[in-house]
Amino acid sequence: MKVNKVEMIMSAVRPEQYPETGYPEFALAGRSNVGKSSFINRMIGRKSLARTSSKPGKTQTLNFYEIEDQLYFVDVPGYGYAKVSKTEREAWGQMIEQYLTGREPLKAVLLIVDLRHDPSEDDCMMYEFLVHYNIPTIVIATKADKLKRGQIATNRKRIKKVLNMRPEDELIVFSSETKVGIEEAWKAIEKYR
Ligand code: GDP
Repeated sequence: MKVNKVEMIMSAVRPEQYPETGYPEFALAGRSNVGKSSFINRMIGRKSLARTSSKPGKTQTLNFYEIEDQLYFVDVPGYGYAKVSKTEREAWGQMIEQYLTGREPLKAVLLIVDLRHDPSEDDCMMYEFLVHYNIPTIVIATKADKLKRGQIATNRKRIKKVLNMRPEDELIVFSSETKVGIEEAWKAIEKYR
């Protein structure tokens, strides 16, 4: 998809703040610093619409990006920050759970992981959660530019195995630096739209 029009339409914490257009939604999840904002910016062809490396302490909200009057990317605050308090973590969990489990227009979740490493415990927990609620998931393994070709193939298999991925879920090798994977990612999204 060639993206020309994008609007960051709103930040939401509660369901009554979610948009009401009914456009299909694709949520983006991943641990902090994995490269989620860079992924979003690359996909929509903007340098810095999605805030990169949002720090803890900032308001944790779901950010809805409306794309081409057709769909939304819903940026979910990153998980796995050691420094956030228990209360903050619980509030985060509640907001995410409410959105992911009760949102009719949500078509799939894009789970962003780091291709260089095994998925973290948090990554595995998130994936298990999505499986449990029967939510289609596209795994985006980013930072591919940091690896050699042979290593990419090895790590790709390893991530599928560690996450115990459902056969119907796709894993897409991606790089925000080289733009590798952009077309595959859009294609995967289109399948659920
Ligand atoms: P977020 O916290 O998940 O939104 O992560 P960011 O998008 O802010 O990225 C965290 C860091 O990783 C930044 O320094 C990015 O420049 C870097 N980064 C993100 N994606 C890539 C990538 O595909 N390749 C490389 N080499 N670095 C990346």
